[in-house]
Amino acid sequence: MEFELLILGTSSALPAHGRFPSCYALQLEDRSYLFDCGEGAQIRMSDFGVSPQRIHQIFISHLHGDHFFGLPGVITSQALLGRTAPLSIFGPPELEKLMRPLVTQKDTDLPFELRFESIDPLGDKRLIFEDDRVEIGCFPLQHRVPTMGFWVKEKAVALNILPEAIQKYGLSVEQIKSIKKGEDLTLADGSWIANQKLTLPPFRTRTFVYCTDTRIQWELAELFHQPDLLLHETTFTEEFAQRANETGHATAAQAAELAKRMQAGKLITGHYSSRFRDLQPVLEEALSIYPDTWLGEEGGRYRVLRTRVGEPPAFERTLSP
Ligand SMILES: [Zn+2]
Ligand SMILES: [Zn+2]
Repeated sequence: MEFELLILGTSSALPAHGRFPSCYALQLEDRSYLFDCGEGAQIRMSDFGVSPQRIHQIFISHLHGDHFFGLPGVITSQALLGRTAPLSIFGPPELEKLMRPLVTQKDTDLPFELRFESIDPLGDKRLIFEDDRVEIGCFPLQHRVPTMGFWVKEKAVALNILPEAIQKYGLSVEQIKSIKKGEDLTLADGSWIANQKLTLPPFRTRTFVYCTDTRIQWELAELFHQPDLLLHETTFTEEFAQRANETGHATAAQAAELAKRMQAGKLITGHYSSRFRDLQPVLEEALSIYPDTWLGEEGGRYRVLRTRVGEPPAFERTLSP
């Protein structure tokens, strides 16, 4: 299964230099989980070929406009496109009060159920959503208003049985089902075969951590160990460290140092200040501390490939032409 982060917006505060405000789509096959939804999100979705119908859930980190002003358009366009599946939006408690009047005159105006799931951004790290593919949770960040980051962990999928095992032991459908779930095999004569002898090693479960607007929080290195993708805001470079601290943001060097402490598979940068037309200084600063850094670019697709336990993680990216 594909595990791909598609970047739709990388700008902080103002749209600038052709960059749009924050919006990220984590794509697992036919589902997109949207993280933040800055102004112009639906324009970026159209630019980069994300069908709004694919949006499974939306997660809003905090109530600064550059992270949620795209919501009314994304919600109402779904109605025009004939969505009937319910849509859940996870975000700070005030989000529903702000959004609902914009998208509905009466609750019945949308052809699908719009659910707002109120999340306290200041609570501890916890699980807030799960389906058959992923678990998604939040954790508190330190910004000028209550803000949360999000983590995503892929769920384990059924094990692959070795074809020779099916033949050798004459496995029944029921036995195959239980072995795929990880159970051992007991034969009619009472002998016992360990699951590992019957299956290929399981696939690694892949992870994504999203640290949106925040002052650097070193303690996150204790919460997250070796995430595959760490998207951390890099609004400024060290030259503007004081400004970063005053405005509740991080520098590229700080994000890179945190990625190093977490041993992230890849650090992806983002949420750039409009003072950077050219992002090379941001990238170079991060790379000097953490070589496994990728510059977050709009239209860029950052993938964690499917590998098995025991194999090293593998990554791939495709940038927008
Ligand atoms: Zn922001
Ligand atoms: Zn903010």
